[in-house]
Amino acid sequence: MKVTKAEFVISAVGPNQYPEDALPEIALAGRSNVGKSSLINRMINRKNLARTSSTPGKTQHLNYYRINDSLYFVDVPGYGYAKVSKSQREVWGKMIEKYLMEREPLKLVLLIIDLRHPPSKDDELMYDWLKAYDLPVCVVATKADKVPKSRWQKHMKIIRDALVMRAGDKFIMFSAEEGIGKDELWEYIESTAQL
Ligand code: GDP
Repeated sequence: MKVTKAEFVISAVGPNQYPEDALPEIALAGRSNVGKSSLINRMINRKNLARTSSTPGKTQHLNYYRINDSLYFVDVPGYGYAKVSKSQREVWGKMIEKYLMEREPLKLVLLIIDLRHPPSKDDELMYDWLKAYDLPVCVVATKADKVPKSRWQKHMKIIRDALVMRAGDKFIMFSAEEGIGKDELWEYIESTAQL
């Protein structure tokens, strides 16, 4: 997809703030610092529309970006914050769970994982959670530029096995730094969202 327009719409704290135009939504989930903002910026050819620093205080916000007036990226706050209190985590969980369970325009969840490392317990829980709700998931392994190409398959297998990935779920190698995987990810998003 050629992105000609990308705009930040709202940092929503609840369903009454979600957009009402029923455009397809692609959610992005991942632990903090995994490279989610960088991935969004690379996908929309912008240096800094998505902030590349996560704010632990904003764990309850869903950030909506409208792309080409045809779909939304929904940035789900990073999970696994060491600094966040247990009660904040519970608020986070409830809001995200409700969004994932009930949001009709949600077409696909991109689970962003760091290709360099095995998935964390939080990543594994998130994948299981998404599958429990029958959501289509695309695992995007980012920072691929940090791993020699000869080791990509090995790292991919470690991630696939740890998550116990379902056969139907897509896996894409990505690098926000070098643009690896951008076209493949756009193609997959377009076909899944039926654009
Ligand atoms: P977020 O907290 O998930 O939004 O993560 P950021 O997008 O802020 O990225 C965290 C750090 O990883 C930053 O220092 C980025 O420059 C770096 N980073 C993100 N994506 C990549 C990538 O594909 N390759 C490399 N080498 N670094 C990356």
